[in-house]
Amino acid sequence: MCFTSKTVTRLLQDPPAKGIHRGNYTTRNGQTNQCSVKPESEWFLHEIKPLVSNELWEECNRIIDESLCKQKRPAKKPVHIFSGVVHCECGQRMYVPSNSPKYICRGCRNKIVIADLDAIFCEEIKGYSLSPDAIAKHLKSANETASEKERLLVVQQEELQRVKK
Ligand SMILES: [Zn+2]
Repeated sequence: MCFTSKTVTRLLQDPPAKGIHRGNYTTRNGQTNQCSVKPESEWFLHEIKPLVSNELWEECNRIIDESLCKQKRPAKKPVHIFSGVVHCECGQRMYVPSNSPKYICRGCRNKIVIADLDAIFCEEIKGYSLSPDAIAKHLKSANETASEKERLLVVQQEELQRVKK
């Protein structure tokens, strides 16, 4: 588990520490996989053994709320590394509209999920960077192409000489 400051804040704001266990209070969106809090009327609350006093919990959360209010600034726009770089089958460039989880073609509305494209790219990169065989094969085929072209060049030069004569 990774304890970022966000995780710690979430743990401090969670009421089990003051002896209240909440059930049925979050829901996950099937499409975006984002978690959100249900209306309070749907929660089930159970009393459990508190870890800290109610006063300490309230004091702690008052401090968190105050500091969160202070740091509220516009959210950073997410960066999509393939935006305008990746091309659709139809030849048009693909972009991510705001709040969309997909790259979408401006021409034919073809779509690909951002995470899928990232995963495909990473797999391709791995194939090259982690496999000396793939690199060796690639170099060998490039060398063969180069010597074939050199051979053709000699033939063409000889042909040129012949024509000139
Ligand atoms: Zn397209």
